[in-house]
Amino acid sequence: MSNLKNEKILEVRGLKTSFYTHLGEVQSVRDVDFDLYKGEVLGVVGESGSGKSVTCSSVMRLLQHPGKIKEGTVLFKGEDLVQKSEKEMRKIQGNEISMIFQDPMSALNPVYTIGNQMTEVIRNHKKVSQKEAEEIAIRMLTLVGIPSPEERMKNYPHEFSGGMRQRAVIAMALSCDPELIIADEPTTALDVTIQAQILELMKDLQSRLGSSIIFITHDLGVIAQLCTRVIVMYGGMVMEEATVDELFYDAKNPYTMGLLNSVPNPKASEKERLEPIPGSPPDLLNPPKGCPFCNRCKYAMRKCVEELPKMYEISGTHKSRCHLLHPDAPKVEGFVKEARM
Ligand code: SF4
Repeated sequence: MSNLKNEKILEVRGLKTSFYTHLGEVQSVRDVDFDLYKGEVLGVVGESGSGKSVTCSSVMRLLQHPGKIKEGTVLFKGEDLVQKSEKEMRKIQGNEISMIFQDPMSALNPVYTIGNQMTEVIRNHKKVSQKEAEEIAIRMLTLVGIPSPEERMKNYPHEFSGGMRQRAVIAMALSCDPELIIADEPTTALDVTIQAQILELMKDLQSRLGSSIIFITHDLGVIAQLCTRVIVMYGGMVMEEATVDELFYDAKNPYTMGLLNSVPNPKASEKERLEPIPGSPPDLLNPPKGCPFCNRCKYAMRKCVEELPKMYEISGTHKSRCHLLHPDAPKVEGFVKEARM
């Protein structure tokens, strides 16, 4: 289901984020633009170091030192988060925007019970009594499928399994009714069965609560299961933006095609089964002048090395950054057909 006619909740324009290290400036996010609509689940996909997590930490203003937003705007409900003070951001974080991290233990304090931590978060953001906060916490734990929530509130994080801890973190993230949830690989550390359960849970909660979600992942299977639209990131840039169907059935970027071809396909013959993208991502300390994918792309031309490709609009919902989409570009056999599925 597409929500493209809905109102925009987030507009990111010209976002540039760098890390100022002793070796020099690492340009982790280089001019990123994207929108998120109300009630939409947007997937952000890419390999490690593509800039997907740094983009979302920049949106949340949760960048680790020595990271800094250099340029750009992050309009959340029309207000620029980049211009907000730390104090103003603390009110927004956890209240209107919540983040769910890969490792639930990083969001939980091992020395406090789940109940203590949940009620503290709720009381920090809502004007409610301790009793009301406990009732909200119990309701949220029930919602995410934790059995006997009254009893479980008395447990410490180590008394929960990995899957239960992630459910508790999701319950905590939802407890202040955020309008936007940013989930950074929340299922990567879990085994496949639990991963499937958490994804199902997020899908169910999203359709019931109508929150907007940005889901960061390196796994295209997760994108297919959960998202309505996707942005594909590489070398700190958006390489392709599309609906999930456009991405899986009509990818228009060689990097996306490479990602699709590296997804394990149980139906393929032994020989065809996996085709990882050879080579490694660009060094963002000295990012390439041209296309960030040029040292790994089998279609790369001289122009790709010399000039950064622009974003070409393929349809109202589909854009891709590749010189091959220029009307005068040479026709390359297999360019469009190569996307599998
Ligand atoms: Fe490959 Fe060139 Fe397209 Fe980049 S611009 S993806 S290097 S063909």
